[in-house]
Amino acid sequence: MAPRRAIGIFGGTFDPVHFGHLRAAAEASEKLPLREFRLMPAGSPPHRSRTFASAEHRLNMLRLATDDYEDLVVDEREVRREGESYMVDTLAEIRAEEGDTPLVLMIGQDAVNKLDSWHEWRSLFDLAHLVVMQRPKSKHIYSGALFEELQPRLTEDAGLLNRQPAGYVLPLEVTQLEISSTRIRRILSQGRSPRFLLPESVIAYMREHDLYTG
Ligand code: ATP
Ligand code: MG
Repeated sequence: MAPRRAIGIFGGTFDPVHFGHLRAAAEASEKLPLREFRLMPAGSPPHRSRTFASAEHRLNMLRLATDDYEDLVVDEREVRREGESYMVDTLAEIRAEEGDTPLVLMIGQDAVNKLDSWHEWRSLFDLAHLVVMQRPKSKHIYSGALFEELQPRLTEDAGLLNRQPAGYVLPLEVTQLEISSTRIRRILSQGRSPRFLLPESVIAYMREHDLYTG
């Protein structure tokens, strides 16, 4: 495989993190020429009226889930920063720190379908590559503008991600696990157990802090 130079960045609300996120992260970390894979919880996600657990809890759960795995690191910057967590600002910040290191933004298919609603979304391609991970029940449905932006950037060659700092779009097959944070929150609010959908350490944390039961 090509030298591992790029930095992978997987943003999300992680409310809570689950095996769908984690297995996708693990497979991306193995299959792509990355030197580092960062999971980055959004502090104040612009697309949601609220989160269910605080940023601190979501961050702690993500740490518990990834602590044993050296290639998966948690990037706290969006939680520490004041105000809305716009991905374009975050990537600009990382770009300023990393020079021309290739940056690879990981996004699930459901989120990519709505990419054209993100703040300054066209600038994302100047700052990073995009890796699109499929998600059960989510087909690609791109608006005209989104399709026009994505289509010429599409490649199947992961090696290209190391060739330039930003700008390619690569679809990535990951194991399809039909798990969502919404489903886990629903299970908990009904007083049932979400066992085997997310790590036991995270379940223990949720129980200890009485998360998602209300
Ligand atoms: P919610 O139900 O609250 O929206 P979620 O499970 O969709 O939670 P998010 O934090 O919204 O999790 O997702 C963060 C990122 O992870 C998004 O890019 C999303 O597409 C991706 N993702 C979430 N679940 C999966 C999964 N099971 N397989 C692959 N990607 C996933
Ligand atoms: Mg989601």
